[in-house]
This record gives sequence, structure tokens and C-alpha cells, in this order.
Amino acid sequence: DVPAPGKVSTRYDLEKETELRFEVEAGEAAEQLELELLTGMAEVFGSELNRNKKYTFGPGSKIAVFTWQGCSVNLYGKPEVAYVSKDTPMLLYLNTHAALEQMRKQAERDNERGPRVMVVGPTDVGKSTVCRLLLSYAVRVGRRPTLVELDVGQSGVSVPGTVSALCIERPADVEEGFSVQAPLVYHFGSTTPGTNIKLYNKLTSCLAEVFSQRCEVNRKASVGGCIINTCGWVKGSGYQALVHCASTFQVDVVLVLDHERLYNELKRDLPHFVRVVLLPKSGGVVERSKECRREARDEKIREYFYGFRGVTFYPFSFEVRFSDVRIYKIGAPSIPDSCLPLGMSQDDTQLKLVPVTPGRDLTYHVLSVSSAEDGEEGARKGIVESPVCGFIVVTYVDTQAQVMKVLSPAPRPLPRHTLLIMDIRFMDMK
Ligand code: ATP
Repeated sequence: DVPAPGKVSTRYDLEKETELRFEVEAGEAAEQLELELLTGMAEVFGSELNRNKKYTFGPGSKIAVFTWQGCSVNLYGKPEVAYVSKDTPMLLYLNTHAALEQMRKQAERDNERGPRVMVVGPTDVGKSTVCRLLLSYAVRVGRRPTLVELDVGQSGVSVPGTVSALCIERPADVEEGFSVQAPLVYHFGSTTPGTNIKLYNKLTSCLAEVFSQRCEVNRKASVGGCIINTCGWVKGSGYQALVHCASTFQVDVVLVLDHERLYNELKRDLPHFVRVVLLPKSGGVVERSKECRREARDEKIREYFYGFRGVTFYPFSFEVRFSDVRIYKIGAPSIPDSCLPLGMSQDDTQLKLVPVTPGRDLTYHVLSVSSAEDGEEGARKGIVESPVCGFIVVTYVDTQAQVMKVLSPAPRPLPRHTLLIMDIRFMDMK
């Protein structure tokens, strides 16, 4: 084997049903790793590797190369860790896929809808990875499933602080994940559902409704069903949000990763026809620190503006007059019940649009550009339930001149003038 210039190469011969797990060092200066399949067959999170092609993984990547039949691979560069594991839950995950595929076949025969699956569990149990695996397997057998992303902290589809849905038409790219084309995205505004649980539940219902409407007109989408990725918050209101999601999406299957109590609670609280299945987590799933999660969120926003790997975007920077836009925050701060106006409940305040007066404190905030029509009062009603058409970041505010400078993926003018403020900030270091 000819190693890539300047890089050490290590060969791994993997027996059948084992996986090579490796991590690339984190940090900007860290060296990338390359992976090449030499013989046999192997996959990375459900996507097959091509032989003699070098796959590159950047700083911080945590990867498993699994083989059903046995294979040999080369790793070029020095990984932070690399080891082979014989103990993986992949067979159980494959069986889960097979069971879902049976349900799709039956749906096809009986002219019904395919499985709607919710994947739940605490943080760092591999929920996103299981979703990716099941979606890639489904699409590899010709299905067109939908990914519903409810993890507002670590969204695989859009920037943090959003919930979204994406039709999956091809397996995830080994290096880049699913191709994100025309996702349906809603503004939530923060990285934990707890900041506004009413809004979170409302948006879950919006996604469920749009998905159901699509299923009515698109048979393939209906048979393909959906895989719902959820947040790792599984107690209190977080748990209630899972129950709400199961009901609004009318899920048929719930996959609980590595949490027996959650499994028992869901079995108790969901209708008996919902199949609740407990699955082990993979020993390979790596725990991520708060710092690591924050960096991943920042990176996701950077990617939105500047592109990813081979694709470089050139964002625009321009001034927006305060008078040309309307900025809102969704949800008024909660006030004691006794102080609420007559006939109003706390629920109403959580979904209320609160106008934001632009000031210096707007700097670095991410703003969603709502797709809601620009009309006055009448349109305000639909803003919470309207999808987002893009995001901008405020980079400078000039209160004297009544303008703000924004970073935008598209040139001026803004496509719409209703902006929703996120708690999330992004400092552009480029
Ligand atoms: P979150 O708490 O953010 O929702 P999660 O439960 O969705 O996390 P994942 O994002 O799926 O967890 O996995 C965490 C990390 O572990 C990811 O970087 C993923 O690439 C890695 N990982 C998952 N499975 C394996 C494995 N078998 N071997 C090595 N790394 C893995």
C-alpha cells in the first residue's frame, strides 16, 4: 500500500460483524484523517464505502467503520484513538430496520401508511446515529423516508434553535451526512426545549401536520414513514414533550436507547398499539462535553454562511434600516397568574409575539427570516407557525443612524421583513 505523502498509514483487518472506531483530534490545527477500504465491504453509519477511495474526516470526527462480511481498511494519519470492537449492537439495529421494512411492505399491500418512528433517550446514546442508520438503510432498499429533527441543540439539518423535516432521497454521504435540500424549517429560538415548551410542542404539531399533508398526496412518502430524532431531555416537561410528539405524529414505534426507566414510562403512558422497544447504545458513542456541543453549534452556523468542505459560500454583509424590518421574540416572560390580564393564560404568553426594539444588545444574535407575508397585523397571527426562509446574523448596530449591519447568505434586499430573534449568538471570526 502506498501511504499518502507525509502521513503514517495503519492497516486494520476486520473480522465480520466488527467495527473500527476512531476519533480525529479536535481543534483547528488538528490533522485530518483519511480512510480507505482495501478489500471486502464496509459501511460508516449505514452508508457503504467504495473501495480504493480516500475518505477524509476533519477535526473532532468520531467514526465507526462496520463490516458485515469482513474487510481491511487503511487509516492515514494519527488518530486520537483507534480500536476494533467486536461488541456492537449493529445486529439489533439491522433487525429493527428489517422490522420497519416489513411494516412498509404491509403498508404498501394494504394501502396504509408506513411506520412513524420516534427515537428517544438521554444525551450521548447515539440517537442521531441510529436515525441516520435507519434512514440510510431504508433509502438503500428504495424507500423515501422523512427525517424529522426535533433536537434543537444539535440539529443535523439546519442551524441550532430550529426544528425541521427533510425528505431523504439517498443514503447519507460518508463524509458529509445527508444532503440537505429544501428542508422545512421552523424557528424555535434557543437550544433547549425548556425555554419555551409550549412553542416547542406547537412546532412539533406543525411539522406533524405538514408531514401528514404530504403523506396524503405522496404515496412514497407515506409508505416510507418518518424517523423522528428527539432531544436528550427525558424528564418532566421534556418527557411530556416526547408523549406529545408521539401523539401528534401518531407514531407506531418508539425506540428507546439505553434508558430502562424511560422505556417503562413510555410503555405505561402511550397507547397499547404503539410498539415501544428498548435498544442498547453502542459502546462507541462518545460523550461530548458542554464545550464540545457549543463548538458543534457554532460550526453548524458557520457552515450555513461559509459552506462545508469542498463547497465554499461567500456570504454578504449589508445594512438594514430598522424601519424596513419588524423584529419579534416569541414568548413573553412569564408573569404571576394574578397579574395576567383577565381571560389570558400563561400558554398565551408563551406563544405571543413580542416586538423587539433594535438596540446594541442585538449584536451577534442570529435572526430567522420568517416566510410569513409582510402584511401588517393580519399576518402577525401566522408568524409562529410559518416556516423560516433563511437566517442572518447581526454584526453591528448603529442606533444613531437607525441601521444594523447583517451577515446574510444572499445579497440585499432581504426576501421578507419579519425577523425572529434567537437566544443564540454567533461571532464571525473570519
Ligand atoms: P445528542 O445528545 O446530541 O442528541 P446523540 O445521542 O444523538 O447525541 P450521536 O450524535 O448519535 O448521539 O453520537 C455522538 C457521537 O458519537 C457522534 O460524534 C457519533 O459520530 C459518535 N458515534 C456514534 N456511534 C459510534 C460508534 N459506534 N463508534 C464511534 N463513534 C460513534
